[in-house]
Amino acid sequence: MAALSPRLSGPIALIANPAAQNGRGAWTAVEAASRLSARVGDQGFYLLLTERPGHATELAAELPPETAAVIALGGDGLVNEVACGLMKRGRADRPPLAVIPAGSGNDYAATLGMAASLPRAIDQILEFRTGPADIGQVNDRYFVETLSFGLDAAIALDTVERRVRTGGAGTRLYLEAAIDQLFHHLSTYRFRAAIQRETPKPAPRESGADGASGPSVVEGEAYLFAVQIGPTYGGHFRIAPQAVIDDGLLDLCWATPHLGPWKALAVLLAAKGGHHTGNSHIHLAQAPALVLDFSDEPPAQVDGEKIEGTHFEISCIPDALTVIRGR
Ligand SMILES: [Mg+2]
Repeated sequence: MAALSPRLSGPIALIANPAAQNGRGAWTAVEAASRLSARVGDQGFYLLLTERPGHATELAAELPPETAAVIALGGDGLVNEVACGLMKRGRADRPPLAVIPAGSGNDYAATLGMAASLPRAIDQILEFRTGPADIGQVNDRYFVETLSFGLDAAIALDTVERRVRTGGAGTRLYLEAAIDQLFHHLSTYRFRAAIQRETPKPAPRESGADGASGPSVVEGEAYLFAVQIGPTYGGHFRIAPQAVIDDGLLDLCWATPHLGPWKALAVLLAAKGGHHTGNSHIHLAQAPALVLDFSDEPPAQVDGEKIEGTHFEISCIPDALTVIRGR
């Protein structure tokens, strides 16, 4: 449901990571603050700069109740931190979340339809078109866009490492990491997924004797297993092209053997545009929740950050956030 509200009920909080994009985040924050000041006045917003990892979560959790909206100015990692802070508040006390893309990975900003240009993104935010958004939970962590295991997580984490090392960015960096992983580290991970059925039918009688309410179990080997709130990861790879953020469902995508490096690369390149879904090695599902177990610990990431473990209890929390959408 969209609402158009040109008048803000209180100040906007702008949370920015000055260290983002190899230090360019500070300049982007200053430019955003200057443009916001011109639009809503100095009393209409305030700037909060993060000082350490996790700080944005604390800042978002402690925003005053009259806050009209909170803007995460940064990449997916910062958005994740801000969302985690909002989740520490009661549902009615979570101000709308907006995103100005200013990070290395801006998948969530794209999911919200935010413009890459700073002035245009500020226009979009001040148009204040709000809507509900689900959030994903994996064990004790939240994710706004993506949770993935195996090859794609290895690529995402390798991309982050390369970015720090080389200062590079974008799809090219992702592809460099992908090619290295595909040709030198391609492996499969044995998994068991107990996938909760999408719409448990209300039992006509008391007994669940037909077993229809139980999860469907998938076991096997996979190169990757992605669990998505939004459609993309890794810099706009459309791994789950049908995913929408407000249907109460996680979109799952996993890839099964046997693919050699070249075939796997072809599938990955097709996934850039979301054209991989017809491949017989690609499996798609939607579910409100699943339990995912791996025999050996796979590379794993939530919104671009590394996580560890072999047992993952994953669920979609419907309508957890209000977000400002670009279009
Ligand atoms: Mg969904």
